[in-house]
Amino acid sequence: MSEAINRRTFLQRSFAATAFSLAQPDLRNHLGNAGIARKVIVIGAGLAGMVAAYELMQAGHEVTVLEARKRSGGRVWTLRDDYPEGLYAEAGATNVFDNHAWTMKYLKLLGVAIDPMESSSGAALYYLRGKRVLLKPGNAVDWPVALNADEKGLSRSQLWAKYVIPMLKEFGDLEAANWPPASLKRLDQISFAEFLRQQGASPGAMEILKLGLADQLGDGAEATSALNLLREAALRATVKQAFYIRGGSDTFTKAFAAKLGDRIHYGLPVVRIEHDARGVRVMCQQAGHQKTFTADSLICAIPFSVPKNVTVSPGFSPAKQQAIAQLGNTSVVRVFLQTRKRFWLDEGLTAAATTDLPIMTAYDKAHYLPGTRGMLEAYVAGAKARKLAALSADERLSFTVKQMELVLPHLSQHYEGGASVCWDQEEWTRGAYAWFKPGQMETLLPHFAQPEGRVHFAGDHLSPWPGWMNGALQSGYRAAREVMQAT
Ligand SMILES: Cc1cc2nc3c(=O)[nH]c(=O)nc-3n(C[C@H](O)[C@H](O)[C@H](O)COP(=O)(O)OP(=O)(O)OC[C@H]3O[C@@H](n4cnc5c(N)ncnc54)[C@H](O)[C@@H]3O)c2cc1C
Repeated sequence: MSEAINRRTFLQRSFAATAFSLAQPDLRNHLGNAGIARKVIVIGAGLAGMVAAYELMQAGHEVTVLEARKRSGGRVWTLRDDYPEGLYAEAGATNVFDNHAWTMKYLKLLGVAIDPMESSSGAALYYLRGKRVLLKPGNAVDWPVALNADEKGLSRSQLWAKYVIPMLKEFGDLEAANWPPASLKRLDQISFAEFLRQQGASPGAMEILKLGLADQLGDGAEATSALNLLREAALRATVKQAFYIRGGSDTFTKAFAAKLGDRIHYGLPVVRIEHDARGVRVMCQQAGHQKTFTADSLICAIPFSVPKNVTVSPGFSPAKQQAIAQLGNTSVVRVFLQTRKRFWLDEGLTAAATTDLPIMTAYDKAHYLPGTRGMLEAYVAGAKARKLAALSADERLSFTVKQMELVLPHLSQHYEGGASVCWDQEEWTRGAYAWFKPGQMETLLPHFAQPEGRVHFAGDHLSPWPGWMNGALQSGYRAAREVMQAT
């Protein structure tokens, strides 16, 4: 089924749809054929940019992709250098969930295989207030914090089920153009911590519930909009199976890049955009020289943390400029520790640990990889990530080993070496994924994805799935559809 509709209908639909976001595309549709081939520039060879370019190329348009880095993929980045025995580490995207319909669609289209992520058997660990808490199925949990009578003995997921899950039933269709329903808008005015307080969680239960997901978004439970965090929880609540991309996540982005071939120009950071009713001009800097590209339309598929360094003439609308200036991007540091063997298995552990330590979490990142060596990861976000990023690379590794040893004793005996990625320091990303402070979903979201004349916008931050490849792909398709309908 083609989605051809006339320009007037499109504009009417667009304006009618600005509850918090634009109407999301239906993934069963396709763009159809371009009546007249137009020139389209796409900035950014991440998934959002590449899917937009791919779809427009398929429709018959002439596409040029300008990418600042010397590789494709953006935040899909598999670290392969120096690892033995088929080990590798994912600096960015790793998990694909069964409800990621856009990711599934394009993995299939490109012939990229996925495998189910089997959860390793063993006890899960928490580390709170200096105490190691081992979760044994069926046993009451003895947390080192004071809890209300009806909270005592509950695991973290049982506390989550008590205070968080019931609210998610009201979340409805997160992709609907008129989302969120009026009844939920109040949740954007308070932090997630305030939401927990209002639900009746005791201070001790809140301490437990702030660990994990809440810690990993923005600056944590006290700073993040409750609506933002609960939407993320709702997106995960229906997941039945997690997958990983066979051979590493960059297999996916490389497959996209191969389809686009020399339409992608690497090492070309865009520094200036000029646009008017007739077309667009885009200036890039390469080895001290300026290169200029012209086109009928432009898709800007870069994170909002980056265009602060791109001059735009005439400037975007005040609302768009406000959204670009104010949207936060979560600070994330990932530290990978290679071990001689997967020693935690001998102790009946999964190596998954959720903690209040400066390293936040520990994960076994190699349980699905070949060989006997191990790869542990500390995934750190927010203020703790910024502290870790301020250390030198060597200090960061030794600090992480010491801290992780509190949770996984004997680590240093098996440790062989490591690497880390600080996403705030990545010039072409400046952070990991978007997050909203209280009030920001209401003020910023309606202006996020709206085109500015001939300039269209894509990126996971503009979708109902920020922080997920699924959102990047959906937004890229939506931007390509806009270009089709506007020309
Ligand atoms: C730590 C981390 C963990 C994640 N985990 C998962 C996960 O498990 N599962 C999942 O599905 N997703 C995950 N994600 C999210 C996923 O990686 C992103 O949603 C997705 O890759 C975003 O794609 P994008 O195209 O919108 O942006 P990006 O990938 O950021 O692409 C933007 C591109 O624009 C380029 N660019 C920037 N500025 C310029 C400029 N001025 N000129 C030219 N080019 C420019 C950049 O180099 C980049 O290639 C994770 C991300 C991070 C960081």
